[in-house]
Amino acid sequence: MHDFRYATPRTLNEALKLLGGRGGGALLAGGTDLIVKMRARRLQPGLVVDAKGVPELNVLKLDKSGLTLGAAVSCRRVYTDARIAKTYPALAESAALVGGIGIQGRASIGGNLCNAAPSADTVPALIVLGAIANIRGPRGSRKLPVAEFCTGPGRNALKPGELLVSLKIPKPAKHSGAFFLRFIPRNEMDIAVVNAAVAVELDAKGKTFKSARIAVGAAAPIPLLVREAGECLAGQPINEKNIQEAARLAALAVRPITDMRGTVEQRRHLAAVLTARALRGAVKRAKGE
Ligand SMILES: Cc1cc2nc3c(=O)[nH]c(=O)nc-3n(C[C@H](O)[C@H](O)[C@H](O)COP(=O)(O)OP(=O)(O)OC[C@H]3O[C@@H](n4cnc5c(N)ncnc54)[C@H](O)[C@@H]3O)c2cc1C
Repeated sequence: MHDFRYATPRTLNEALKLLGGRGGGALLAGGTDLIVKMRARRLQPGLVVDAKGVPELNVLKLDKSGLTLGAAVSCRRVYTDARIAKTYPALAESAALVGGIGIQGRASIGGNLCNAAPSADTVPALIVLGAIANIRGPRGSRKLPVAEFCTGPGRNALKPGELLVSLKIPKPAKHSGAFFLRFIPRNEMDIAVVNAAVAVELDAKGKTFKSARIAVGAAAPIPLLVREAGECLAGQPINEKNIQEAARLAALAVRPITDMRGTVEQRRHLAAVLTARALRGAVKRAKGE
């Protein structure tokens, strides 16, 4: 590995100053992507800025407005928190699938998002739950929906000197539910061939979709919010025909590639299958079943 400087700021301003310095630097949350890329010489930052000592990046707060998740909070802290598992089960389940326990103790949800892999497992859940990214940089703060955060494989919407401070995930509405699924050819420790997350809100009787959001990963250059697939369900009765129509639209919207993990055809098929299954799961959760 190349030589680099390593800094452990204790405040957000200190971290921003370090990242904004000449030559720039890379923020290290858990390092489970960053260190791998540095060892492979795909990234060669002159300065690594460790986020674990910055209080704002390690906040985990649940209140009436929802969940505030510091960008460096580990996947393990997320899925072992009983309140998150109860209120945001799709997010907890996706966090529990990132690598194995050793990885989960370091890997953060923020790092999963900033790394912007098309297959990132926690991003579809963040998208359908309506998460907002809180960003800070030399020109102040701004907010961006997570659905717009990834801009290409390994690329995100952060500008030079900016960092992701936290994610805000709104409190789920009444009669709502969300579900996440991933397809891999073995039981664990693999990258998604396709993954999908769905969030639905139902009418009080549990007969009709009020709204739905569907996101599919590893089937396009970015984790994809398939607006038309969710929107086709709004106001429609909950039945298999409508679920299949949303699944068909999801499969039409994806832009997969063929690689060592799967073919275009298999990924398109999986986008439909996972969307339909996640929809059924989300409906059950919304009904409290
Ligand atoms: C063995 C192994 C198994 C894995 N399995 C999975 C898996 O099943 N599913 C999956 O999705 N991923 C998997 N990964 C990838 C990785 O663990 C995840 O993407 C993880 O969530 C990254 O988080 P991190 O905190 O380690 O990020 P880091 O490596 O610290 O950072 C990732 C990138 O984002 C940047 N960054 C991090 N935080 C910020 C911030 N707050 N602001 C701005 N930029 C930031 C870093 O500079 C870096 O470029 C695996 C990795 C390994 C090594």
